[in-house]
Amino acid sequence: MGKINILPEHIVNQIAAGEVVERPASVVKELVENSIDAKAKHIKVYIEEFGTKLIEVIDDGSGISKEDGPNVFKLHATSKIAKASDLKAISTYGFRGEAIASIRSSASSIELLSKSESDIDGYSIKADPKEIVFTKKKPPERGAHISVHNLFSTIPARKKFLKTENTENNHIKECIKQFALANPNIHFELFIDSKSVFNFPTTNQLKDRVYDVLGKEIASNLFETTESTHPEISVKAFWGSTSLGKSRNSEQYMFINSRFVTNSTVYSAIAQAYQGFLHKSLKPTFVVFITLNPEKVDVNVHPRKLEVRFSDPKMVFTAVYKSALNTLQRQSKQELTQSFSTNNQGWASTDSIQPTEVPHVSHSLSNTAPHSFTHRTEHKSKIKEALIFTQKLLETAEDSQTSEYGASSGSLDSASIEPFQLFNTYILFERAENLIIIDQHAAAEKIAFEKLLKDYGVQKTKPLLVPEIIELSSKDLDIILANKAEIAQIGIIFEKFGNNSIQVIEIPEILKEIDIQELVDRLINTTGEFDSYYKEYESQSNSPLSHEAYYLIATSACHGSIRAGQKLSVVEMKNIIKDLFDLNNPGNCPHGRPTYYKLEKFEIEKNFKRILN
Ligand code: ADP
Ligand code: MG
Repeated sequence: MGKINILPEHIVNQIAAGEVVERPASVVKELVENSIDAKAKHIKVYIEEFGTKLIEVIDDGSGISKEDGPNVFKLHATSKIAKASDLKAISTYGFRGEAIASIRSSASSIELLSKSESDIDGYSIKADPKEIVFTKKKPPERGAHISVHNLFSTIPARKKFLKTENTENNHIKECIKQFALANPNIHFELFIDSKSVFNFPTTNQLKDRVYDVLGKEIASNLFETTESTHPEISVKAFWGSTSLGKSRNSEQYMFINSRFVTNSTVYSAIAQAYQGFLHKSLKPTFVVFITLNPEKVDVNVHPRKLEVRFSDPKMVFTAVYKSALNTLQRQSKQELTQSFSTNNQGWASTDSIQPTEVPHVSHSLSNTAPHSFTHRTEHKSKIKEALIFTQKLLETAEDSQTSEYGASSGSLDSASIEPFQLFNTYILFERAENLIIIDQHAAAEKIAFEKLLKDYGVQKTKPLLVPEIIELSSKDLDIILANKAEIAQIGIIFEKFGNNSIQVIEIPEILKEIDIQELVDRLINTTGEFDSYYKEYESQSNSPLSHEAYYLIATSACHGSIRAGQKLSVVEMKNIIKDLFDLNNPGNCPHGRPTYYKLEKFEIEKNFKRILN
């Protein structure tokens, strides 16, 4: 390998520069970070030839003392870290002490003009990769001016990798936008080739800064929220409405303790929260500020400080997820209720309970002797019939105020909706300027799931007047008997009946389509279909149910609800619509499939070329 060389400083710096100075925007970032760390209130950035000719940052911060001036250009020269323990809780943008040294080695020269608070006079210095000399330029009244000349002239290979002028300028603009969002109390100005590009005056309203940086169109579709439910973390955010979803280049800003970063935990929390609201192929728009104890986040994991690591990623995930989800739910509910007609007849209870036809009930009643079935669909219809009959009797007796699904009259008005069933699978109706398409099975499953989950252990069941006998193989019988107590928690009550059957005595109203045999099948052959939803549920819930209980509920909801291919009455459709949109989170069934889909009038009109674009 040859003789070992101790590399001279300018080569060491150039090696470090490879990591820090990726492109002109990285230089802008490092210089602006220094200005903010120096408590500047006004920062001006001048760019010429997309930063390859000149990058100049002028600030009114604390400045650099004359004595320290020459040290700034040396590697590991920093005023921000003095001892190793300081690295544990960094409150400044900079701390590595390598930015200016790296920039120096990548440019033909770098000039510093400064006057610090402690010095009587200012000074000026010029450094090229090899030399540092004091010069005679007129220093500022306060703060620091740093100009970088001919970036990458010392590393022609790097210059070749730069993209077009436009791209590099855009990176610089992005960088200023990021700092501006995180620091509304600082006045930022950006000039590119002598033209003023940005001018963001100081404000103490974050909202105003968001408006200035993102523009009116975007800002008016953002929903602001602040949540600090956990003592260690607070999340302030502007979540973009679904109309801002874009297939690429959507505006996404994520800050952790005022530092713009990318972080997969935060991204996945956001993506999951938007899942039920935004099509998978679209990316949401957001600005999110996460503030947490600096000891809980390691910022020293990336040379350009673009990534961070959390000591408790789950806490961060949950806080961000809840912030986004709560906001989207609130918003979507508001949109939905607003656009339903103001006719306040409400969802009259009589409207919802109309088991107009109860076929074969008399037959079932007259034939109360135990009997067994072998055909599956027969089980299902028998249970349903028995339930409807039971219900009808009880409803008339009690003059109950509750609807078929147990929901009391809510905020939506059914009178204004005229649902229509398509392919015996989808429920269609018009709302505001949209066509809403509901998947009847996914929706019914979701409604049942939420109800069973809510009432777990305290299910309100109604006894079947006609108990249902179900014949099972001895193996299946053992399994269902072993799970009897657990199953009772969701409100399915049964007894062993004879040698090879069970007798179902009570079931929750919501599971009127229940097919016990299918449920038993699924309890035997468990699948992972609900696993990812369980994880999400577990992370949000304070005292989550066990994985087994969740599986049982999800499975029962799936096998106890209206199926695709089933003809529905208008009343049944209205009940589904109402119960679905009464939920806080109507978007997805427990499998993660969407429950409904919105086709905008605008889109339809576009297809008919009534509007062009
Ligand atoms: P770091 O920011 O990691 O400390 P830099 O190489 O970016 O390292 O800067 C080195 C030091 O120079 C800083 O610690 C700070 O003391 C000083 N400095 C740089 N820019 C400025 C500025 N604009 N105003 C005041 N001090 C500055
Ligand atoms: Mg720095």
